[in-house]
Formats: sequence, C-alpha cells, structure tokens
Amino acid sequence: MRIILLGPPGAGKGTLAKDLCKEFNIPHISTGDLFREAVAAGTELGKMVREILTAGKLVPDEIVNQVVAERLRKEDCKSGFILDGYPRTIAQAEFLEKELSALGKNIDAVLYLQISEDAVVKRLTNRRICPKCGKIYNMVSMPPKFDETCDDCGERLITRDDDKEEVVRNRYKVYIQATEPLVNFYEKRGILFKINSDCEHEELIKNALEVLEKVRKSGKD
Ligand code: AMP
Repeated sequence: MRIILLGPPGAGKGTLAKDLCKEFNIPHISTGDLFREAVAAGTELGKMVREILTAGKLVPDEIVNQVVAERLRKEDCKSGFILDGYPRTIAQAEFLEKELSALGKNIDAVLYLQISEDAVVKRLTNRRICPKCGKIYNMVSMPPKFDETCDDCGERLITRDDDKEEVVRNRYKVYIQATEPLVNFYEKRGILFKINSDCEHEELIKNALEVLEKVRKSGKD
C-alpha cells in the first residue's frame, strides 16, 4: 500500500501513521521528522532548514523533493509506505507523481484528515513528545501516566518549538494556502478519502482502516 496522509498540522497524521505502518508493515516517512533529525544532528540539511522550521514556514520544494526521492529509493519502500507531511504543495505532488510513475508505481489512497483551526490549536499547544522514542502525548486527551515523562522510556517530554500558539496559527495559515489545494488535486484522481479527525484516536484508526480495506479490495478486483 502506498498511502498519503493529508491534513492540517495537528490533525493526527503522525499518530495515525505510527499505527498504520505497524498494521501494514510498511515504513512511515515523515518529512517533518527527517528535518528535525537533521537539525538535531547538525547536518548541512539541518543547518539549512533550522530557522524555517522554527518559524513554521515551508522548506523549499527542491530540498524536500530531493530528501523524499532519496528516501523512496530505499529497499524498505518496495512494498509500500506512508507519507506524512508530504506532499505539501502542488509542485511537490507533481514531483511525487513523476517519481513514482518512473518506477511504474502510483499512490493507492490519500486520507484527508479534517479538523477545524481551533481544535488544532487546542491539540498542538497541549502536545508533548518524547525526545528519545518519538512517542506523542497530549496533556488533555492522551497524557502520560506519570507527570511529564514518557511511559515507555522515562524521558522528560518536550514541547516542539513550533507548537507554540502563534506558530501553530501561522502553520495553519500556510497549510490553507499551500496544501489545501491538494484536496482538489487528489479528488480529481479519484483517490481522496475524507475522514473526520476531530474525534478519539481509536475512532480515527477504525475509520482509516475501513477506508483502506475498501481500497485494498477494489485494487484486487
Ligand atoms: P510537520 O512535522 O509535518 O508538521 O513538519 C514540521 C516542519 O517541517 C514544517 O512546519 C515545515 O517547516 C517542514 N516541512 C515538513 N514537511 C514539509 C514539506 N513537505 N514541505 C515543506 N516543508 C516541510
């Protein structure tokens, strides 16, 4: 299965991707994670994108496309992948389409997670992340068992720099301008599936799996 998760920041793409990649045994490719890792490691790429990430702006298409193209050529992507946070512009979507068609492949499904701006702001300003294992928590809806430490590895949880309210509102604005046009782009290709994501995580997973099961079956016919 080759899946794209589309939706505003805070719609639950990362958490859903983590569950789906276990279910289908395919890699979870998050461009945001790849950039944050590069920043933490202090690589050339990290130095290039650090300030862009902190401001909640978009990394230029050429840089993102190159990172993704390299990642998609790795062996573990042969049986599929889940793209989270990519594509984010029409230019990226067109690039992806070309890259995949050169490999004789296509995207099976784009899951469009729908949620309002206010719900996103509430979610993201309460989001905490384990800096060691990447597990995502929400201090309101999915808090850790003890204080602000990770249930799995005991690390102190952190707030992402770009999860501050002002930056979140800016990221949402950027999403509406640059990324929302992708809804129409994928709708035209008949592979867009809308899912309400302003709900409990279990319900989101259930609905996503139902959609993907239908897609899988129709692919077999
Ligand atoms: P995310 O974790 O998906 O919210 O991404 C965090 C940040 O990484 C974004 O606010 C952008 O600065 C950058 N980023 C991630 N994916 C992309 C992309 N496809 N295009 C441009 N910038 C991106």
